[in-house]
Amino acid sequence: MSNPTIKEEALEYHKFPKAGKIEIRTTKSFKNKKDLSLAYTPGVAYACEEIKNNPQDAFLYTAKRNLVAVISNGTAVLGLGNIGALASKPVMEGKAVLFKEFAKVDAFDIEVNENDIDRFCEIVKAISPTFGGVNLEDIKAPECFAIEERLAEELDIPVMHDDQHGTAIITTAALINASEILNIKFEDMKIVIIGAGAAAIASANMYKELGVTNIVMFDSKGVLNKKRDDLNRYKKAFISDFQDMNEAFKDANMVLGLSKPNSFTKEHLALMSEEPIVFTLANPTPELFPEDVKSVRPNAIIATGRSDFNNQVNNVLGFPFIFRGALDVQALKINMSMKLAAANAIATLAKEPITDEIREIFGELEFGKEYIIPTPFDKRLMVEVSSAVAKSAFESGLTRVKNYNHEEYKESLRR
Ligand code: NAP
Ligand code: MG
Repeated sequence: MSNPTIKEEALEYHKFPKAGKIEIRTTKSFKNKKDLSLAYTPGVAYACEEIKNNPQDAFLYTAKRNLVAVISNGTAVLGLGNIGALASKPVMEGKAVLFKEFAKVDAFDIEVNENDIDRFCEIVKAISPTFGGVNLEDIKAPECFAIEERLAEELDIPVMHDDQHGTAIITTAALINASEILNIKFEDMKIVIIGAGAAAIASANMYKELGVTNIVMFDSKGVLNKKRDDLNRYKKAFISDFQDMNEAFKDANMVLGLSKPNSFTKEHLALMSEEPIVFTLANPTPELFPEDVKSVRPNAIIATGRSDFNNQVNNVLGFPFIFRGALDVQALKINMSMKLAAANAIATLAKEPITDEIREIFGELEFGKEYIIPTPFDKRLMVEVSSAVAKSAFESGLTRVKNYNHEEYKESLRR
């Protein structure tokens, strides 16, 4: 094929040599009659009985302990919108690839043809015995909030909606480092958030945990304030006294865009502090491009969702390692302290000198305005993020394992 476009290349990639991006492999010897009798009947019945007598033994005798369900109903897929369960399958398979390649986590992609909150939750609950964790994916807001809340409450394995918390964790890591570079305390910050969907609400909730109190949030209809009578309960939590964008941007220290291209302008940025934090994360086209930001605020710390600019907010820095850590301690939940532990570990790693491997791919990178978060190819992410999450889960009393040795676990992740 001469000069293939990315579309052609992508379709070829998905089609050949086998359709799709994942397959299942066996992990035990399976060569003879003896193996057959161990893997299947009669031997398998002993494993069944052990689990029947002690459900915890499922983590000993089955793949549950390393298996995550990547579950979607296809209602908010990438920037493609509600394309349905079947059409979301390439994305969910892709997520399974990232789980495996980055953190050795096995993931089944599960596309569920169900948009009703109650029925969707019932389906996920019914299949949950198979898994050690559930990664909800590409489910539209506000349904995603209720679905995740209910499943996290009712299941005894960690449940995380990555579009919410994966994003929140990475933007929190980036904010921790940006505020350190600018030497601004969280409690002194004024943050404008453009967007009030899955990613924006979860990010705002994490910023509150850091100590940020002054947050102004906008959705497609404008500022969230008392005059609005159309707000769901998740948006209501972010009502402020501001009246419009000009007032919101005035002297603000940060703007977080998780909305659509052009949802705010250079003129708004010109109202901000001299050295603002500007995260324009709408994908694939950001709210404003870095060059536009720089034209009015040359000293800004800028992040986007894209790999062709510095400071890419990429969820892959988080979810594979968060689940790695949670699975390894057989966690029951992913709570706020585990999420903060992940964000802090990611932030701290950006302050370490880069490895030769990273230098080869990206050139020289040094902690500062142009490098506030690690790159996805940083092998140290698994060691640092997974161990931070596992430790926090253990300290929160949310694990099935009764003993946890932090240094030993870190060492095992390095191998
Ligand atoms: P979502 O749940 O659909 O939320 C989108 C939000 O943007 C909604 O609250 C919507 O308002 C609001 N909005 C739309 N147009 C607006 C405008 N002109 N002004 C202000 N707000 C506006 O989507 P999401 O999952 O949170 O994702 C939002 C965006 O962030 C997408 O572009 C996504 O690709 C990107 N994203 C990037 C990353 C990353 O870089 N790592 C991660 C997650 C998401 P209504 O509530 O009124 O509809
Ligand atoms: Mg997603």
